[in-house]
Amino acid sequence: MSDLNEARAILDNARHIEVFTGAGMSADSGIATYRDAQTGLWENVDPQAMASIDAWRIDPETMFAWYLWRAHLAQQAEPNAGHFAIARCPKTSVTTQNIDNLHERAGSHNVVHLHGSLFEFRCSECGRPYTAPIELPEGPVEAITPPACPECGGAVRPGVVWFGEALPDDAWAEAERRMKTADALLIVGTSGVVYPAAGLPLIAHANGVPIVEVTPMRTDLSHLADVVVEDTAARAVPQLIPTSSPAAQ
Ligand SMILES: [Zn+2]
Repeated sequence: MSDLNEARAILDNARHIEVFTGAGMSADSGIATYRDAQTGLWENVDPQAMASIDAWRIDPETMFAWYLWRAHLAQQAEPNAGHFAIARCPKTSVTTQNIDNLHERAGSHNVVHLHGSLFEFRCSECGRPYTAPIELPEGPVEAITPPACPECGGAVRPGVVWFGEALPDDAWAEAERRMKTADALLIVGTSGVVYPAAGLPLIAHANGVPIVEVTPMRTDLSHLADVVVEDTAARAVPQLIPTSSPAAQ
């Protein structure tokens, strides 16, 4: 059996498939990576330096402008055939490290966001979600003053997880639960080096959940997979994901 057929057999037989995605899922959507976003005004920015609470405290205006610019770029990208295939299949749910909301825009519901979202905001002081609309810049802007929290006056920050910050408790608990209870795990486009997220497939593996991995190059997670399909998300995922209703068991 080819890798593709073997992978398809695992996913066809599963009543519920958890899909675990990383940057490679969005690569075919032309989503701007940190590097691509570093044009013009942002040419010399160090993305790592733009991803910590310490940097935020020193210069929230610059950080806010950088994240709104990235949100604008994500908004301009479109979900790819892989995102749509996952969304169309009624027996999938998604746990993602991506902050671009492309799964939701393809139509997936119940997406667990381990690293937050570029389109969610909260108060940097009291933590309350900030839901008033925030206008995204059409081009790179050097500095944008974050809105003030209506409750405490604190600066509103991007709802993403920065280096050194814990993942959101509820997202992590739900992701762990899904890793244990899925009938199959489909890993797409994650390098498996960013912890603690990269530890999730280990949980699935320890619970005997069959694993299929889609990746153009083998990763640190490949040894956990029953089958590795070496291809891109947009090409492989639509061929793998069943479109029919769940298999009767
Ligand atoms: Zn507040």
